Amino acid sequence: MDVAFTHASVILPDGILEQSAVLVRNGVISWVGPTSELPENPAETVDLGGFYLSPGFIDLHVHGGGGNDATDVDLDGLKTICRTHEASGTTSLCLALVPTPRHQTARALQNIQQLAIHGTGGARLLGSYLEGPFVNPSRVNAYQERWTLEPDLDVLKELTIAAGGWLRIVVFAPELPGTEPMIRWLAGKMGLIAAIGHTSATCEQTESAIRSGCKLATHLFNAMKPFHHRDPNATGAVLASDVISAEVIMDGIHLHPTAAKIAFKSLGPDHFILITDATAVVGSTDGRGKIGGTPITYVDGAARFSNGQMAGGALTMIDAVRRMIDTLDVPYHTAVRCATLVPARVMGIEDRLGSIEVGKHADLLILDKSDLRVLYSYIGGNRIFRSPY
Ligand SMILES: [Zn+2]
Repeated sequence: MDVAFTHASVILPDGILEQSAVLVRNGVISWVGPTSELPENPAETVDLGGFYLSPGFIDLHVHGGGGNDATDVDLDGLKTICRTHEASGTTSLCLALVPTPRHQTARALQNIQQLAIHGTGGARLLGSYLEGPFVNPSRVNAYQERWTLEPDLDVLKELTIAAGGWLRIVVFAPELPGTEPMIRWLAGKMGLIAAIGHTSATCEQTESAIRSGCKLATHLFNAMKPFHHRDPNATGAVLASDVISAEVIMDGIHLHPTAAKIAFKSLGPDHFILITDATAVVGSTDGRGKIGGTPITYVDGAARFSNGQMAGGALTMIDAVRRMIDTLDVPYHTAVRCATLVPARVMGIEDRLGSIEVGKHADLLILDKSDLRVLYSYIGGNRIFRSPY
């Protein structure tokens, strides 16, 4: 169906077009320009009355939502995770798996594959994200440590087969012996991304991993050795690199605002990626859930284990965008870019997703200008979410 969004403040990657319109034909953006110059009258017109029209958010790193964790739920549970995040503007996502017993990881990968093939009925499921097992056991929490593995290409191949072509991101700790050939193997595959994370790597080991093809750093600063001026470690190597992109959890808890500022100044608006690292507690009615089988609870803005240790994110993409605007004092379009076009580029899907541009899928959000509330979400021009408020 054809639809025109008119009188919108259209958020583009480099600025905002006021009083503008976006025409959608067969789910694809076919025209963008001033409302007064709209070339035709489509079947449906949505007058935004000045509200923002934003590209839908792409969250590369989601563990759970609505009480469900991607490691141990069936297709309905996975679908609930995707639906939970639609309400906060996510229109595409990868489902991340913490280390669990290998057969359980393989089953979760198969489930994600099934849902990706059949569709969630809403947000686009881009595939799976293996946050382990090839990570440094000393850089994961005690509950997941026992399921980490030494790098082993055969195991990676086995998991890739289980994922049935829907594996997208694999995290490595570059200091572990045998990592390099795995990164090279992965970097040579289309649509697969080698990431650096949960690591005690030195600066040099990290630089070498980037040269071998690592394109992404998993939640920069968190679960990696911190920067020191005589020993910059993985954190320093990522900040200094011109080629790698880094995920950032902008919840005000995982990162001090100044650390986030340093990250943005170093990485710039082409390599700074907003993620949620959201766990089951997001959208859970009682603030409880699990990650990798271990119970977690929502406490003061983050998910925590019973011992108080942080277990992952409890924010949503719209929270991350708001906080980036407030904390880093960047324009709206810059924060939105870091939640849309930048992750789309890392994933190699920027030809069809990640910005409001002719030829791309009409994955769109209508946002209230006063508080950036998500009022409506659209996937391919079809409305999938309407705010109840
Ligand atoms: Zn994670």
